[in-house]
Amino acid sequence: MKHKMISKALSHKETLVRHRRFIHENAEIHNDLPITTQYVLSELKAMGYEPEEICQSGIVALAGKRKGKTFLLRADMDALPMVEENTLHFKSNTGHMHACGHDMHTAMLLGAAQLLKEHEDELDGQVKLMFQPAEETLHGAKAMIDAGVLKNPTVDAAMMIHVMSGMPLPSGSVLVPQGGVLSAAADWFNISVQGKGGHGAMPNTTVDPLNVISHIHIGLQEILSREVAPGDNVALTIGQMHGGSTSNVIPDMAYLAGTARTFGEETRSYVKQRIEEIASGVAATYRASAEVVFERGCPSVVVDQKLRDQVYTFASDLVAADRLIDPAAIGFTKMSGSEDFSHVSLEVPSIMVSLAAGSPEENYTFPMHHPKVMFDEEALHVGAALYAHVAMSWLKHNK
Ligand SMILES: [Zn+2]
Ligand SMILES: [Zn+2]
Repeated sequence: MKHKMISKALSHKETLVRHRRFIHENAEIHNDLPITTQYVLSELKAMGYEPEEICQSGIVALAGKRKGKTFLLRADMDALPMVEENTLHFKSNTGHMHACGHDMHTAMLLGAAQLLKEHEDELDGQVKLMFQPAEETLHGAKAMIDAGVLKNPTVDAAMMIHVMSGMPLPSGSVLVPQGGVLSAAADWFNISVQGKGGHGAMPNTTVDPLNVISHIHIGLQEILSREVAPGDNVALTIGQMHGGSTSNVIPDMAYLAGTARTFGEETRSYVKQRIEEIASGVAATYRASAEVVFERGCPSVVVDQKLRDQVYTFASDLVAADRLIDPAAIGFTKMSGSEDFSHVSLEVPSIMVSLAAGSPEENYTFPMHHPKVMFDEEALHVGAALYAHVAMSWLKHNK
């Protein structure tokens, strides 16, 4: 028998599809989401909420009449700056595309808002709905935290859902990962080496920055091969090296730029520290100097184990056993991409759940961020029910 939350969500299916298609058709990017924001605000108001735009295109609404703990549910609303190549009748008309499924997330959280309103008298605390912009640029969650999304009332735990398409899992499958670091942190760095330029025929009067930067490049490989534990995944990529303009001149400066993807704050700060030490140490060895500019991008999403165990149990009320998946059981433990919900996960116990919305067997063959990717709307009611049921159950079991 279907759980009542699933049946209720199913009864809102047409509305969920309407939300999703409107947002899909009006895809907007970064934190400039005027049409989407207006739509979400007016839908929430129509349900009886008093939503607030706490920063540009960042919306918060509260459900619950009783004091108690606060559970946060997050959906991102931004699309990607790419042109859609689908023939859907609700194809994007803005020149941008919801190729990451954030239109699905927004529709699902609106659906959850409706369900929570219908059960508001039963809530043992409050549910905070967070509709955020600029996930793809990895800025939106942080902007909303700075604007106070985790305060008044203080958030005690948080969940986000991300849909997946083109993966070999039946639509409607729910993936609840184990506790620990889930997604990669992504940071950028630039190294400038100051040498001393001169004539190629008199290298002894110069300090050759090209020689220095080559040794820095080799030195950086040491971090991966000798310093980071074999089981700790780090992707250190040097994607640019520049310097010099002709064959018989030793240039004054040379540059190198790269990215560091790490899992967990400890490795992340270690890699940063070693990039700086190796660059300046090697430069000093060869009589040059190096300046390292390190730009911290986005941290890792960290899943709270206790919350994870509870969410897994709550999800098992809704989905059949063969549709509830522990990603570790299918050999999937970490994602190499980044997700800016990580900022929330550093502040409060959090979990990121994945929801399958179309597999190749079901004719959803394209991967996310592809101009032809499509998402199965049959997953919408599962996502809406999951959001609402997890929040309600968590409040009930954590009074
Ligand atoms: Zn994306
Ligand atoms: Zn996404």
